[in-house]
Amino acid sequence: MISNFNKVYHVGLYIRLSREDDDKGLMSESITNQKSLLLQYAKENNLRVYDIYIDDGYSGTNFDRPNFNRLLKDIELGKINMVITKDMSRLGRDYIGTGNFIEKYFPEHNVRYIAVTDNIDTFLDSSNNDIAPFKAIMNDMYAKDISKKIKSSLKAKMKEGKWVGGRTPFGYDQDKNDKNHLIINEEQASIVKRIFDMCLEGLSFYKIARELTNEGIKTPAQYYSFEWKSHYHLRYGEWHSKTIRDILTNRMYVGDLVQNKRSKVNYKVKKIVKNNANDYIVVENTHEAIIDREVFYEVQKRIPKNKGRNEKKEIYLLDGLLYCGDCGHRISITSRRKKDNRCYTICNYYRTYRKKKLCTTHSNNYDELEKIIINSLTKMCFNYISKDKIKNNVLSNLDKNNKVNNKTELEILNNDIKQINDNLDDIYIDKLNKKITGEQFERVKLQLENQLSIKQKKYNDLNDNINDTINEKSKNKIIVEYINKFLSMKEPNRELIINLVDRIEIFEDKNIDIKVSFNIK
Ligand SMILES: [Zn+2]
Repeated sequence: MISNFNKVYHVGLYIRLSREDDDKGLMSESITNQKSLLLQYAKENNLRVYDIYIDDGYSGTNFDRPNFNRLLKDIELGKINMVITKDMSRLGRDYIGTGNFIEKYFPEHNVRYIAVTDNIDTFLDSSNNDIAPFKAIMNDMYAKDISKKIKSSLKAKMKEGKWVGGRTPFGYDQDKNDKNHLIINEEQASIVKRIFDMCLEGLSFYKIARELTNEGIKTPAQYYSFEWKSHYHLRYGEWHSKTIRDILTNRMYVGDLVQNKRSKVNYKVKKIVKNNANDYIVVENTHEAIIDREVFYEVQKRIPKNKGRNEKKEIYLLDGLLYCGDCGHRISITSRRKKDNRCYTICNYYRTYRKKKLCTTHSNNYDELEKIIINSLTKMCFNYISKDKIKNNVLSNLDKNNKVNNKTELEILNNDIKQINDNLDDIYIDKLNKKITGEQFERVKLQLENQLSIKQKKYNDLNDNINDTINEKSKNKIIVEYINKFLSMKEPNRELIINLVDRIEIFEDKNIDIKVSFNIK
């Protein structure tokens, strides 16, 4: 059916396998199977395969997959104009997203999409394509359903007092004879006991952490080293107050199973959120205790309430835009102090590794800093607007002439191209009528084709040039709109500032560098 079209297709084969498929034991979905089916299909239809894009282990519920992104890039670079998958669910299991690709993105990018086993082909006007939206809904429902099923079966197990979490709590191992049961890891348990003892002796979290670090006691991170290695190399081997607090408040150590502490936002979004304590699923005495209940409750009384962390933090005007000019990491803004309502900036890199002195504080009174920055930004905006006015006046005259010139030149080039094509047709007919020899034909053809490609390139360049100027102008128009809004506002608003500012770098010597999204020269 594809050979009916004389267009040349450059095909991207897209293959996806996720754990949902694995769990169902769907061998038919395996990478090898999908690949051989697609290659076979391409071969039968004489299609040229540009590349194969494989996402192994990625769910279809969102589109943030590395090779899918690569596929989109190649579409945008014009490298492929046809995408083939085994069926629609390979593209995605999210109805809105999948529908968007099939009904909007692909057509807009002139890409033909084929789902082989679903008989869907976006370039054929066939009734099969009417199924596409329906199929996409089915796929979406399937993902929702599977995720619900997994969730409810997990919860049922938690309620039965079965351990279902991935990583065991520090001090415990998974029972080799029963994977839903925990047994004590003696080596780690002795460290846990010691931490509780030290707390009863009156040592602060910080002091406990320091003592353990000094003694070279292995941290939980070191025990679980496989997942920590890359990101936290600097923290490696160092006990932190937070680790101590987490251990001292973990009810698992008295033998109670506490689960369902975190959950996914929903089946489409991977993000994990902390659940309310009401949602925890607790079953008492499911495993051997490391700490006596009395000791545990005694320790809880001594633990200071965690203030601040759970309180809603104020969102500052410049939140997220501040960077350390000296080390490049982000600059945070602290919560307001109760006594004088002040808050301060601090370099994150400095704060995290305070003792190692990897950077300096970069401490500034935030409210004053904000005033200074808003003032400078206002000045930059005024400057831009006034220069833009002058520039526009000078340019608009030049521009009128340019426009006319460009247009006539485009027309001339277009005519030339037409003429060369006509000539090519002519010599072809001459050759057919044997007015010229094959050799003559080849030579003239080469010359003409050469001329054609030169003219074509000139035409494209000029056209691009015209489009660039138009883009540049509309971009500038938007910026000017933002700036005017910003300047006319009494209270600056965060959204506008984010549109105008890329980043603000703060240096220890109090220098400030505001990088704006418009060209100030
Ligand atoms: Zn820094």
